[in-house]
Order: sequence, then C-alpha cells, then structure tokens
Amino acid sequence: MHLSRFPRVTLSHAPTPLEPLTRLSRQLGGPTIYIKRDDCTGLASGGNKTRKLEFLLGDALAQGATHLVTQGATQSNHVRQTAAAAAKFGLGCTALLEVRVADGAPEYYNSGNVLLDKIFNCTLESRPAGLDMNQELVAVGERLREQGEKPYLIPGGGSNAIGALGYVVCAQEMLMQANERQLRIDHVVHATGSCGTQAGLVVGLQGMNTGIPVLGIGVRAPRERQEANVHALAQATWDHLGLPGTLARETVQANCDYVGGGYGVPTPGMIEAVQMLAQTEGILLDPVYSGKGMAGLIDLIRRGQFGKDENVVFVHTGGSVGLFGYREVFAP
Ligand SMILES: *Cc1c(COP(=O)(O)O)cnc(C)c1O
Repeated sequence: MHLSRFPRVTLSHAPTPLEPLTRLSRQLGGPTIYIKRDDCTGLASGGNKTRKLEFLLGDALAQGATHLVTQGATQSNHVRQTAAAAAKFGLGCTALLEVRVADGAPEYYNSGNVLLDKIFNCTLESRPAGLDMNQELVAVGERLREQGEKPYLIPGGGSNAIGALGYVVCAQEMLMQANERQLRIDHVVHATGSCGTQAGLVVGLQGMNTGIPVLGIGVRAPRERQEANVHALAQATWDHLGLPGTLARETVQANCDYVGGGYGVPTPGMIEAVQMLAQTEGILLDPVYSGKGMAGLIDLIRRGQFGKDENVVFVHTGGSVGLFGYREVFAP
C-alpha cells in the first residue's frame, strides 16, 4: 500500500502514542487494554478527523480549491478540525450544522466545538434534522461557486475513500509500534459513526494481511446498516488503493447495542466510561463517540467476551472538547 502516491498535507502529530491502560485493565480484570492516542493528533485539540483531512486537503489543494464546505452535528468534532485545517491553509470554510440533538442545554449549541468553530472564523449555518445533508452541501457549494469561490465539498466526518486513507495510515503506524515492542494485538475496538475510521483500519489491517479483527461500537445507526455502510466504504477505499480482489464482508464487525436513546443522547454507560477513564487513567473521552465506544468495551469485558491473556487496543478518536457541551450531565 503505497500511500505516497496520493496528494497529502501534514496536519497530525504522528505517530500518536500507543500506551497500556494499566489501572483500567486491573480494575476490569479482563484482557490487557492498550490505547492508541488519536485524541492527540494535535490539530485544534486533536481527534480522528485530522488524519482524514491530510488526504482531503491534499486533494482540495491539488484541485485549486479556495473554500472548504462540510457538515456535521452541532457538536461536530469533524467541523472543528476542518475549520482549523482551512485556517492553516488560508482557505475559507463553511459548515452546515444539523440539529440532531433537539433538547440539549444552551452550552450544547454555543460552547465546546461550536465556540472553537467560531474562533477559527468558520461560517456556520444551521439545518433541521432529517434533511439530505449531502444535497444541502451541494447547494451551498453551488452558491459559493456563483460568488467566485472554488468550493471543495467534504462529506460528513470526512468519510469517503480519500479521507479513509488516513486510517490506513493509522493501521500501518499501529502495526509498526506493536512489532517494535513485540506486542501481539488480538483486537482493535473503537467508536464508529460516519464509517471512515473503521473502513480505513479494516483496509489497512487486511491489506497488510494481519488478520487482526476490528470491532466498531456504533453511535447512531443499527448494526446491519452500520456494517453495510462501513463495508461499502472499505471496498471503495480498497479499490482506490488499487488492492486486488474484494474485501470479505465478515471483516466488518459492528456492535450497535450502546447507542441508547440516539445520536448524542447520554447513556449511563457513557457517563460511567468517561468518569472511569478520567479517574483511573487521567484520560478524557467524549460524550458522543469515544465515551460510548469505551462503554461498549467495558461491558463486553464484563461479559467475558475477551480472554484474560488477550491484548485489546482501543483507538481513542478524540472529542473531549464536546464535554463542554454536556456540562449538566457531568456537573449538574
Ligand atoms: C467522527 C468521530 C468518530 C467516528 O469516526 P467515523 O470515521 O465518523 O466513523 C469517533 N470519535 C470521535 C470523537 C469523532 O469525532
């Protein structure tokens, strides 16, 4: 997988650390848990979108773009990282924020990621839930073109075959770190939403023939739809890389039992996971993605799904800025 063939800019502080979670592993009494610190990718407080944006910005600049257009939920970590990347390369940025969470506290709509979007001078437009957001993106792109801009449209979460290359890079990086320290990785677990992270990791780990299984913990869609979406994007990424043949459907595994009341809606498991990681390891998760992802991992460990002699890597995809949108959940 020769990734240097694709246009790319540098945005991330990589390699991100791969660290043991010693106290958490001892407390849960199951497998040895490691954490891949992609919350520390560096751009505007970090997160998983930064690796995708390296390839998306590379493509945008190669096409002569002047303005990035993207979309996400109100507390989108992707919008925050896109706004920062646009600023770094002197591009304009417009983001459509879909009001998916209807009854959040005032902080949800004004603080956390929204505050940082504004500091990066990103133009924010609000959209009600339930629209075809990609169609909305196209319409805004056309408006900007009429105004003389060269818009570059980035899908929600930066999840297309270009963005997913960022997680092929992460798979390569993680494997090299494991081999250097003779760590055998038995499972990779992370939160999955718009599918690019899991698609990239699966393509990277399968393309290198490691056989390491990846489990995505869903935060929105039911399992069948999530797995189908990830698999379609993974196959597109596989083809974009020019790998031979097809990617087996069974390589894509998701567990969507930890969504709770819906996207961005707090669950008791998420609250426990955020507090547990903070209080045993000094690590901040987020309320929408990594908190629910870790809640899933904790529950599966308690149910004995992993052997005590196994090594599980949790990919921390970032998002702690979102905690400030959920102040009343953690400090009522
Ligand atoms: C976007 C996001 C995810 C999900 O990644 P996808 O590639 O969209 O599946 C997980 N965690 C955080 C913090 C995110 O912002």
